[in-house]
Amino acid sequence: MAHIYDTIIIGGGPGGLAAGLYAARSKMDTLLIERGKFGGQTATTDELENYPGSIEDCTGPSLIERMRKQAEEFGTAFVKDEITEVDFSGKIKKVVGKKETYEAKTIIIATGAYPRLAGFKNELELRGKGVSYCATCDADFFTELDVAVVGGGDSALTESLYLTKFAENVTVIHRRDQFRGAKSIQDKVLSNPKIKVIYDSVVDEAKGDEILEGLVLRNVKTGEASDLKVDGCFVFVGYLPITELFTGKINLDETGYIITDEDMRTNIPGVFAAGDVRRKSLRQVITASADGAIAATTAEHYIENEFNEA
Ligand code: NAP
Repeated sequence: MAHIYDTIIIGGGPGGLAAGLYAARSKMDTLLIERGKFGGQTATTDELENYPGSIEDCTGPSLIERMRKQAEEFGTAFVKDEITEVDFSGKIKKVVGKKETYEAKTIIIATGAYPRLAGFKNELELRGKGVSYCATCDADFFTELDVAVVGGGDSALTESLYLTKFAENVTVIHRRDQFRGAKSIQDKVLSNPKIKVIYDSVVDEAKGDEILEGLVLRNVKTGEASDLKVDGCFVFVGYLPITELFTGKINLDETGYIITDEDMRTNIPGVFAAGDVRRKSLRQVITASADGAIAATTAEHYIENEFNEA
């Protein structure tokens, strides 16, 4: 018979790792399954200045490594596998991976979200050839070169600031005349001499065959097209939830995010969700971590009520 865990956590970002810490610390038999690198988007975040206590030199990867170790020290088991199918129909839940099938009394989904494409011509063709979705991964390639950043949210703004450490010039291209990102970060962007902002504009096309040579921009108010010569283009136009596996199995909202109550319960008893994959208003490391803590605690109570007959 397969080993039945108390809880299986799918996803090793801050939500999953915090769930692992809380579950294992309450003596739950806990398995965390991650298909790639631990940390999710946090693993590609340079500075984490808004995570409480992270005052100096707290990078995404360093925080994630500490979170992973802490969960492991309390007893969370980790496995690298990619889940391809889930079966939440029985009291014992099954998740099928490429390597193995796993079973548990509860599941905590913490699969996160992935970067959305901006949708301009040649975006995919030039991905990895000048078009990037991760400044921490690729900024170094553009040392003393010119780059563009597409987007106007917190990601676009914080990553623009990071890019100024490498690039000669950073041009932020935003489709409206006001940023969506936090005012404090806007102020830093607007006062940075290396950053220029082009408002009311979108990228229509990336130029170049083997490598990005420039962008064709369009002013959305006037319709006027213009060329921008850049060596790199970083796209930060939001994220999409990683929930294909769960479509039709649990309730998702119209954009694919998992709907939970405030204790992280989905509509399926024994299945919980934590972090960016949930429908929520603030997606941060701190809110993902809080979700993970709550999901593990609710899962623990669920097991006490459903499996431990008095
Ligand atoms: P976001 O807040 O959804 O912002 C996406 C930006 O991209 C918006 O400015 C949007 O324009 C623009 N956009 C969307 N589709 C576009 C397209 N096809 N072409 C051009 N522009 C497009 O996404 P995010 O910045 O990645 O942030 C996601 C979440 O993570 C947010 O909750 C954010 O607060 C959080 N976050 C926080 C921090 C931090 O606090 N340091 C850092 C990163 C992320 P409009 O404004 O016109 O809609």
